[in-house]
Amino acid sequence: MQYISTRGGGEPLSFGETLIEGLARDGGLAVPAVMPQVGRATLDRWRALTYPQLATEVLSLFATDIPREDLARMTAAAYASFPSEVVPLRPIGDGLTLVGLSEGPTLAFKDIAMQFLGQVLEYALERTGSVLNVLGATSGDTGSAAEHALRGKDRISVFMLSPHGRMSAFQRAQMFSLDDANVHNIAIDGVFDDCQNLVKQLAGDLEFKRAQHLGAVNSINLARITAQVVYYFWAWLRATDAIGPTEVSFTVPSGNFGNILSGFYAKRMGLPVRRLVLATNENNVLDEFFRTGVYRPRTAAETHATSSPSMDISKASNLERFIFELVDRDAARVVTAWSELESQGHSDFSAEQPRFADEFGLVSGTSTHADRIETIRRVHAEAGEIIDPHTADGVKVAREHVEPGVPMLVLETAKPEKFADTIREALGVEPEYSPELRAMLDAPQHVTELPDDADALRAFIADASLGGGTVKTTPVGADRHES
Ligand SMILES: *Cc1c(COP(=O)(O)O)cnc(C)c1O
Repeated sequence: MQYISTRGGGEPLSFGETLIEGLARDGGLAVPAVMPQVGRATLDRWRALTYPQLATEVLSLFATDIPREDLARMTAAAYASFPSEVVPLRPIGDGLTLVGLSEGPTLAFKDIAMQFLGQVLEYALERTGSVLNVLGATSGDTGSAAEHALRGKDRISVFMLSPHGRMSAFQRAQMFSLDDANVHNIAIDGVFDDCQNLVKQLAGDLEFKRAQHLGAVNSINLARITAQVVYYFWAWLRATDAIGPTEVSFTVPSGNFGNILSGFYAKRMGLPVRRLVLATNENNVLDEFFRTGVYRPRTAAETHATSSPSMDISKASNLERFIFELVDRDAARVVTAWSELESQGHSDFSAEQPRFADEFGLVSGTSTHADRIETIRRVHAEAGEIIDPHTADGVKVAREHVEPGVPMLVLETAKPEKFADTIREALGVEPEYSPELRAMLDAPQHVTELPDDADALRAFIADASLGGGTVKTTPVGADRHES
């Protein structure tokens, strides 16, 4: 399998070459040259597999440059610390079922892809004799998932910037309690945008970037997208074990369009999916796009800080991969649409909007703070389950799209323990912490405070990075916006 650019330029890449970043050389996003197809007989055969076995099957369709035994070893290692089903399903009534994607070390769905990425990055670096220094900015979830996936790896270091004093106590503890020598938490005296600008500045300094082997593992990362395809197959298999191979719908709490893109790929591979329901919070740039066909990214000033913070985005980094399929893989049209976006601030696909639902099954809805609180209460009262605010956005929007006879699977993107304040507001009590979580919250914290200054950051990285200037260079792409 080769990977081409959504903008039509550059040489095709192998899976291994897309591992860092996922950006093609012309600034477009890497996508599979052809979508692998999975027939009914194969789906039947996959029913008997464990989650890691299924992951090996699905990923071997994308990572054709990695021998199957190696993939099998990596998927087993990636999910060894998860419960045995890895992704458990729990019905909550009214035809809705939660798909438990948050059983990993940081209690959010990003662990599932990041744990595999950690394995496959280490494998690729070993084979090429290279090292990688991952540089990222986080407002919470992405950074902790990356650190927990990459901690203790020999050939990888992580430099994770976060805005000083602006993360929750839980988020801080999840990152700063790590004491691995290869994990560097850096609290910047500024806000999240300042952190992101520092990353952009250093990633734009090509000489420094090359000398320090800098790279990113952000949400446009293609290996993450393909690892997420697996759980759509898994959830379909488990939801239809008892009722036979019928269509199901999925609702996905969305921000950067990474998670739901994987569902879109699963459907294009032949998985019997009826609807892919995209749920947004008050930052509803994607709901607006799917309802009107007009994509209008927001400014930082127009982006609200909400009680489902991991969905607080101003633009959706992965949408270009959907647009590429929408225009029937005509890269020239993607380039035109994106230059319109640059010049006029929006891009208009309203003529194609009816196809979103009819051809691709994509529909959408918005959930607000009041909806989120009400939904957490209702699910608790009716099903005895405490759900997190992002999952609540999903459940709220899912209810608007339930159809008779079609199971509705709602992706649980985080656990409620991460968002105790909102749970307390909804239920009057806080979620209970396990002994492990309590120990994490009480553990000593490791963080370096730096001013909002690129030279100070450069000096810190040059001092602590792996292999500065001595080991073979790892190819890296340019940086992109990440929320
Ligand atoms: C990242 C995240 C999302 C949004 O996922 P995208 O892939 O960016 O659409 C939703 N919920 C939680 C809890 C997250 O961490």
